[in-house]
Amino acid sequence: MNILLLFIAALTLAQCKEIPLLAPVAPEGVESRADEDSLTEDDFTLGAQMTYGNAMPEGIPIESANENASEQERAMLFEGDIMLTEEQRAIVDRGIQSEIDEMRSGVSAKSRLWPRSKGNKIEVLVPYTLKTGFTDAEKALIAAGIDQYHKGTCIKFVKRSNEKDYIEVFKGDPGACWSSLGRTGGKQRISLGNGCPGTGVVTHELMHALGWLHEQSRADRDKYIKIHWNNIEKNMWSQFRKCENCDAQGTAYDTTSVMQYGIWAFQKSRNLPSMTKIGCPEDQVWPSKESGCRLGQYNGLNKSDLKELNLMYCQDTGPVTEPPCSNEPDFSRSCEFWALQGYCKHSFVQFMMKNCKLACGCPS
Ligand SMILES: [Zn+2]
Repeated sequence: MNILLLFIAALTLAQCKEIPLLAPVAPEGVESRADEDSLTEDDFTLGAQMTYGNAMPEGIPIESANENASEQERAMLFEGDIMLTEEQRAIVDRGIQSEIDEMRSGVSAKSRLWPRSKGNKIEVLVPYTLKTGFTDAEKALIAAGIDQYHKGTCIKFVKRSNEKDYIEVFKGDPGACWSSLGRTGGKQRISLGNGCPGTGVVTHELMHALGWLHEQSRADRDKYIKIHWNNIEKNMWSQFRKCENCDAQGTAYDTTSVMQYGIWAFQKSRNLPSMTKIGCPEDQVWPSKESGCRLGQYNGLNKSDLKELNLMYCQDTGPVTEPPCSNEPDFSRSCEFWALQGYCKHSFVQFMMKNCKLACGCPS
């Protein structure tokens, strides 16, 4: 009984924390949208005309770009460019591998996926807003990245009207390119600072928001890439942790996935690669394009990325369907954290099934 009381007290506290006491309150149903921009047909047309290869200077990987982000922001990033929610951060800090795996496996945690629209059409609508501050060229590049999803998958990024869960794309600090992992509930942000907008980075960050981790986090990565631990600062070793329980959906490892980090990621010295493709020279940081030894790329979604996206979101009988109870929002944002503690299955089953159905994966 005492445990139950403690739990209820914790719930109350968790709830209180979510109420901004001093924040200005807009009249009910009215949101300030003065600082919102949008992508127009012209942006998409211009984006289609841009040369993808020129969109981002080659050799500036996302993880290096984030070296320019503020210290505070970098300290919050996981694997270089993933902004965790408070709950996710708590899980990482606890350091229990199975919990981290569960959190990281966006592709297997259904509550983190974006739901399919109702009706017969296989379509996943992801609402987003775009903050002001981007140049016309940057907007065209963002549009070009989005267009790759529209052309190759059933996922459609649509301007938000009043949906609860949505992505806010904003211009972060120069070089700060990061995203949240999977659908986090409510507003989640994608930072595209100066130097970020390019089809590669845009598609990469959007794919995080759809639930994907980096290619080098896959459990089978050691068969395809070699991690050069000596060339990586020890405090960065955790960035190369594998996600043993993540579901690779039966797809092959692809060193040219847009989710694969470059040879330089978290390198100790500019001359030493932190990882190389198996069978390739282990001392080259800039192998020729023809050698097939480069890792990652900045053109955007490639065949295997599209295959994974389609497998997860767009199959006829795919696992992503509107969860039967998704119309009932979770009682608290902490539900997901509690679910990861296993409370849907033990300790607080009754409470969780009543109040945290979404986080518990909508059990039948
Ligand atoms: Zn990333």
